[in-house]
Amino acid sequence: MAQLVDLQASATDQWAPLLAARTRLGRSDAIRDILAAAATPGVLSLAGGIPAPESFPVAPLGRALDTVMSGYPTQALQYAPTEGVERMRAVLATMATATGAAVGTSQVLVTSGSQQGLDLTAQALLEEGDLVALDDPSYLGAVQVFRRAGARLLAVPGDSDGMRTDVLEQRLAAGARCKLVYVVPHFHNPTGAVLSAERRAHLARLADRYGFLIIEDDPYADLAFDGSRLPSTDVHTDRVIRLMSLSKTLCPGLRVAGLVAPEQLVRDLAGLKQGSDLQTNTLSQYVLAELLQDPGFLPGHVSRLQALYRGKATWLTRLLRERLPWLSFQEPRGGLFLWCTLADPRLTADRLYPRALAEGVAFVPGTPFCIDQDGSALMRISYAALDHTQQEVAVDRLARAFAAETEKARTP
Ligand code: PMP
Repeated sequence: MAQLVDLQASATDQWAPLLAARTRLGRSDAIRDILAAAATPGVLSLAGGIPAPESFPVAPLGRALDTVMSGYPTQALQYAPTEGVERMRAVLATMATATGAAVGTSQVLVTSGSQQGLDLTAQALLEEGDLVALDDPSYLGAVQVFRRAGARLLAVPGDSDGMRTDVLEQRLAAGARCKLVYVVPHFHNPTGAVLSAERRAHLARLADRYGFLIIEDDPYADLAFDGSRLPSTDVHTDRVIRLMSLSKTLCPGLRVAGLVAPEQLVRDLAGLKQGSDLQTNTLSQYVLAELLQDPGFLPGHVSRLQALYRGKATWLTRLLRERLPWLSFQEPRGGLFLWCTLADPRLTADRLYPRALAEGVAFVPGTPFCIDQDGSALMRISYAALDHTQQEVAVDRLARAFAAETEKARTP
């Protein structure tokens, strides 16, 4: 058996000398392994950051697809401009204007998910050794992109109002020079924090003073339980790149998102995108443009989404408070996540995790999200995927895993 493992290892290593250094940079097997384990049959997953399948607007998307395929099929199946299909750019410009500064179509680049927007931004702007400031903890997909681009990370602590911009200011005043500051302004992944209006304005003033760009990655903005939303930081400064994912508002599978930036930057980013994938899927863009151009669709859909996630969050948080007194977290205001602290010194989330899996429930331990801070007592739980009955079973399994691990810790 040992020999077999060795052979497998050397077969994998065979290619290592050919890999560029950046392929190894920012690699994170931790989350990949955790999500794979969470997908094991029989495991109830509180781990994934994926939207609830019942949130997808299946019938309206079907009708939009019919309209496209019966009205202008060859256009929708053809190559399209790298910047995006004009109609989709216009729809995204309207959505951006409704939630921030007025923008024109030429300031919009359609990307294959906001993940591509992040990657293009990093490629376009970051040199080896450049400094990127970001929340600690942060979205792992962003950390990987920045690390791979050779950036150094400046981890900034946060609280329920998001990034502590006062701490950022102190670091800047002490000489730190960042090129980018990355924020997830609504219902942060993983913390659930919302960057307050005051801090948005403060961040914008710092961007103007110190010359950095703000990346505002905002996939959860439509998921506020009370329907509220703060305007983008771009109402205060033009030093903002907005990443407008549609993955949580509509569905991730079509891979269409908007990137909003100053026009010259959009041109440079489009140049990079051309080399990567020529353009975002034409059919997806036309289908989404058809759907979003219908003025009656989005407001109703978004309020259904908000009610759906509010219901799931209320149910799960009540169960957790009743049955897992060793877990503490702030009441969620939107988004998909609870960022929890394991308030028992005998146990870490990393130790609880394999036991929880064995009991048939998965979550994500906090460590992979954390940059400088210690994440060993932290864990991310998502209320999105499971229905009420499954949530109840999942919580009972977590309770059993906790009891078994603490019992083990007590036994000499
Ligand atoms: N940013 C954040 C903060 C996310 O949580 C995610 C996905 N979970 C993404 C970006 C990726 O979004 P998209 O599907 O639009 O690429």
